[in-house]
Amino acid sequence: MREEELVDRARTMVRGGGGRLTRPREQILRTLARLGGHPTAGQIHAALGEEDAPHLSTTYRTLESLCAVGVLSHVHVDHGEPTFHFSAAVSGRPHVHAACSGCGSVVDLPTEVVAPVADYLRDNGYEPHLGHTALSVTCPECARD
Ligand SMILES: [Zn+2]
Ligand SMILES: [Zn+2]
Repeated sequence: MREEELVDRARTMVRGGGGRLTRPREQILRTLARLGGHPTAGQIHAALGEEDAPHLSTTYRTLESLCAVGVLSHVHVDHGEPTFHFSAAVSGRPHVHAACSGCGSVVDLPTEVVAPVADYLRDNGYEPHLGHTALSVTCPECARD
């Protein structure tokens, strides 16, 4: 999905939930779409640019509020800070994650990969949240050295 389309869908969802498109929300949605991938709050904040950038605490609060309205979601990665991405409702691309314990890189995996795990959990009465934490892996590059 193109950056602009992603941001448009996010805006529609914010308004649909009765939310306001405040300036920090708009800035963060645009920045996250431009960055792509799974940046941390600090990385998003650093990429907002000098001009009219909100205070760091506003960035944190805004990210939290965008998660609360379902536009973004966060992923916990090993020992690192949580990372943020557009929710499946916005991106139309449900996925789970694997994060390298060496370099911290995060890759998206199709949800089908973990379907047997999800089925097993549901069969035993557990509701899985498999997208909430990343699987811990060593990426091919880190495995090489
Ligand atoms: Zn993701
Ligand atoms: Zn790695």
